[in-house]
Amino acid sequence: MSDQPNHATSPVLEARSLARFYEVGGGLFGKPKTVKALAGASFTLEAGKTLAVVGESGCGKSTLARAVTLIEQPTSGALLVDGVDVARASPAEMKRLRQDVQIIFQDPYGSLNPRKRIGTILEEPAVINTKATAEERKERAMELLTKVGLRREHYNRYPHMFSGGQRQRIAVARALMLQPRILVADEPVSALDVSIQAQVLNLLMDLQEEFNLAYLFISHDLSVVRHIADEVMVMYLGRPVEQGSRDAVFQNPMHPYTKALLASTPAVDPRHRVERIKLKGELPSPMNPPSGCAFHQRCPHAQERCSVELPELTDHTTQKVACHFTETINQGQSAA
Ligand code: SF4
Repeated sequence: MSDQPNHATSPVLEARSLARFYEVGGGLFGKPKTVKALAGASFTLEAGKTLAVVGESGCGKSTLARAVTLIEQPTSGALLVDGVDVARASPAEMKRLRQDVQIIFQDPYGSLNPRKRIGTILEEPAVINTKATAEERKERAMELLTKVGLRREHYNRYPHMFSGGQRQRIAVARALMLQPRILVADEPVSALDVSIQAQVLNLLMDLQEEFNLAYLFISHDLSVVRHIADEVMVMYLGRPVEQGSRDAVFQNPMHPYTKALLASTPAVDPRHRVERIKLKGELPSPMNPPSGCAFHQRCPHAQERCSVELPELTDHTTQKVACHFTETINQGQSAA
């Protein structure tokens, strides 16, 4: 098995108004309710780049991860992996696309089977999906162990013999076994000590460069996102509310929700301090989202229109924002 070839920069993932709804409840006495876990996410992701998806829990990040990893079909909209619309893909194409997209989970303790040796864990995806010989699989697994900063002799050890950071490195190695083009990283460092987080993030960035990987990086932690993202999509109750380059979103946040998230994160650079907005109340339930702009009950700029009319995501020079009053709120504010 050879290493991932170095693909030219090109969109490897595209979402067009991607939506995923769930029917919940119902039964004898009530009608089922439709929960719009993801409602209309559109983005493109190029090889070698990172799109970070940010928001509180319940904002639709994990639903998006499940859709992108082809675990669940979207309810509407389209998802294209390597230019292929997954809804129209043949079974053979689907098999290939599933190999193209791999995922790393948050919990490095729960994601590795404690009864299996590291070598077996790493080789499993190759056993199921490829015709590689046992020798080729073993060589690939050992090579990846060294790529993620471990040693070849770790091949015969068990997960309990490793620290949390090392286990996450093993999970990364397993995700790379099938030479994917896209890695979905679902809060990959939030269970790790802060001192270890930077090491794993740096490893991910090195591997991205070496294998030209595209990352869909899901996180609630803006200091982590600032470190790793090229593009940022901020989500609130299933909808993107602000989208743009990392610099645009971090240096000139325009949506009141993004401003509030950033205000609660310590600014590394004092020039980029943002207006102090403190969020009122809790995140509403996705089962019963507020009418109009879903953020209106917590927004310090809310007006009557906000509770009745849903704001569309629209272009504002450097980024896209879903707010009826973007201009008024950001008057006099310019990109730093
Ligand atoms: Fe706030 Fe209204 Fe803008 Fe929503 S549309 S973010 S409630 S000002």
